Amino acid sequence: MHLEIIPVTAFQQNCSLIWDEQKNAAIIDPGGESEKLIRRIEELELNLTAILLTHGHLDHVGAAPKLKAHFGVEIIGPHIADDFWFEGLPLQARKFGLFEIEAFEPDRWLPAQGETLNIASFNFEVLHLPGHTPGHIGFIEHQHNIAFTGDVLFHGGVGRTDFPRSNHQDLLTTIREKLYPLNDDMVIIAGHGPYTTIGAEKQHNPFVKG
Ligand SMILES: [Zn+2]
Ligand SMILES: [Zn+2]
Repeated sequence: MHLEIIPVTAFQQNCSLIWDEQKNAAIIDPGGESEKLIRRIEELELNLTAILLTHGHLDHVGAAPKLKAHFGVEIIGPHIADDFWFEGLPLQARKFGLFEIEAFEPDRWLPAQGETLNIASFNFEVLHLPGHTPGHIGFIEHQHNIAFTGDVLFHGGVGRTDFPRSNHQDLLTTIREKLYPLNDDMVIIAGHGPYTTIGAEKQHNPFVKG
């Protein structure tokens, strides 16, 4: 798997661009700066096949409609419990002082369990990871030992739960019961900041002990 992390917006959100040997690609959490992302995808001569979203916060979804329009691909995820965040995108934009955006919906919401996404030559297990937002989703690629988990677990930290319909107890349960059982070497690409591994967080994370 080829991976390039492209920080976007004033929130330095980690947008992940991944592709295989055939140059089939997916982009995860394109939160803004659509021109920069389009330019990079074209520079690398990638065939973008899907846009994946972990949750409905503006800095994770903001460039999705423009990428969809440009490349003609579907927006997939998160879980429908985040629909109020998508409806509230214009308000989020005003609140955060970011670019203006119209409300949109993904082409496909993801179920709470049992879904595997086959995209490019990757197989993503879809995990429902509520807490930071109620419809938060993680994309786990077991064969390549890498997980894209948005704003749930950070290097030495956990996601904020001071938003409407956030739930701190759910977040802790999500981390303990869904992420920590993954293998210790699993690389976690978090929504912000450096990457980490499950093993490192189980040992050192001050908020959730393994
Ligand atoms: Zn978030
Ligand atoms: Zn974020």
